[in-house]
Amino acid sequence: MNYQTLVQQLDEKKITLVAVSKTQPEQAIRKLYDQGQRDFGENRVSEVVDKEAALPDDIRWHFIGHLQRNKVKAILPFVHLIHSVDSARLLQEVGKQAAAHERVVDVLLQFHIAKEESKYGLTEAKARQLLSERSAEEQAQVRICGVMGMATYTDNETVVREEFRRLREIFLHLQRDFFADQPAFKEISMGMSGDYSLAMAEGSTMVRIGSLLFGERK
Ligand SMILES: *Cc1c(COP(=O)(O)O)cnc(C)c1O
Repeated sequence: MNYQTLVQQLDEKKITLVAVSKTQPEQAIRKLYDQGQRDFGENRVSEVVDKEAALPDDIRWHFIGHLQRNKVKAILPFVHLIHSVDSARLLQEVGKQAAAHERVVDVLLQFHIAKEESKYGLTEAKARQLLSERSAEEQAQVRICGVMGMATYTDNETVVREEFRRLREIFLHLQRDFFADQPAFKEISMGMSGDYSLAMAEGSTMVRIGSLLFGERK
């Protein structure tokens, strides 16, 4: 799909485009960068570390993959937004590393909304528990900016819509109960190449699009 057409579509609804550049070479990223794209998403720590070192400093790197605690340290100096916080222990580690780097880090809580079992993510109950047990130290270093989720990989639009609707519902519940006085809690990261139109219709504020922009991954 044409980059400018997509951006125009998203801009009308003030939705942020995260261009998912995992497995793509630097030159493919530069090509989009030259057209104005600044938000890029990666899912492997070593890959994003290498790309960050090689590419322009004003790129905002989003970490969208499963993150192991022992690798938080490597991305902490530069990561713009971690979409995939799915446990209290990971959140604690992000807080600890953020303190060590004297910065406040923005994250999203990842929820399991799909039927597939393999996908990572919290349940609403687990998230509530995590949010009610946050330490003061971690809260000072980590800003939770919203939620993220992946719908089931299916052509069934009803299923996908319901899952996105559920994620928005979780977002609204948590906003009401934990973040009512925190305007930074505002992001719903949902929608990929195959389902971003549905995600937009269901209230997405941030889409993560790879193959539609870069072509199929090898
Ligand atoms: C790979 C990936 C995407 C992008 O997938 P496409 O189908 O290529 O758009 C989005 N989100 C996550 C978490 C991913 O791992």
